[in-house]
Amino acid sequence: MHAITRSGWIEVISGSMFSGKTEELIRRLRRAEIADQEVAVFKPSIDDRYGETTIGSHDGRQWEATLIDPEADVLEQAQTALNGEEVVAIDEGNFFEGDLVTLCESLADDGRRVIVSGLDRTFRGEPFDPIPQLLAAAEYVDKLHAICTVCGEPATRTQRLIEGEPAHVDDPTILVGAEESYEARCRQCHTVRRD
Ligand SMILES: [Zn+2]
Repeated sequence: MHAITRSGWIEVISGSMFSGKTEELIRRLRRAEIADQEVAVFKPSIDDRYGETTIGSHDGRQWEATLIDPEADVLEQAQTALNGEEVVAIDEGNFFEGDLVTLCESLADDGRRVIVSGLDRTFRGEPFDPIPQLLAAAEYVDKLHAICTVCGEPATRTQRLIEGEPAHVDDPTILVGAEESYEARCRQCHTVRRD
């Protein structure tokens, strides 16, 4: 897939929830590890689904990760954590602000392979910043698909459900106390309430 080169580059693995982004990230890390390449993994500190120091895919595979606070200087935090690793992976990239692009460009400029996974759309179906900007900056882009839970077609969107009903366009991203869930949906079956 990749040219033989001594310069760095950026790879983005994007798509909806349940499309296997983290699983694909871990697959690439395993292959780098088999080739004896040093690997560093970062993830935003707001996501603690699998504990504070690992990334995991839904099938239970795990990898050690360093937490980065997306609200603080991400470049400084990454540089402090790095020890000359050739490969840097960033999971859940959509939870970082615009600094993610600066960070990835900087790491790639230094000759590193940078691999980022992240949602490309919000539950509203809109671009999920800063992933669109990172897609423009990247050398390699993969959009993964899930399977629509309604019709079985390839799914590109994340359906948010609150108390079992499609979320309203104006619902905040985090709703305290509400029972919410997510499903992969295709363009036709994805619903956002706007009434
Ligand atoms: Zn569908």
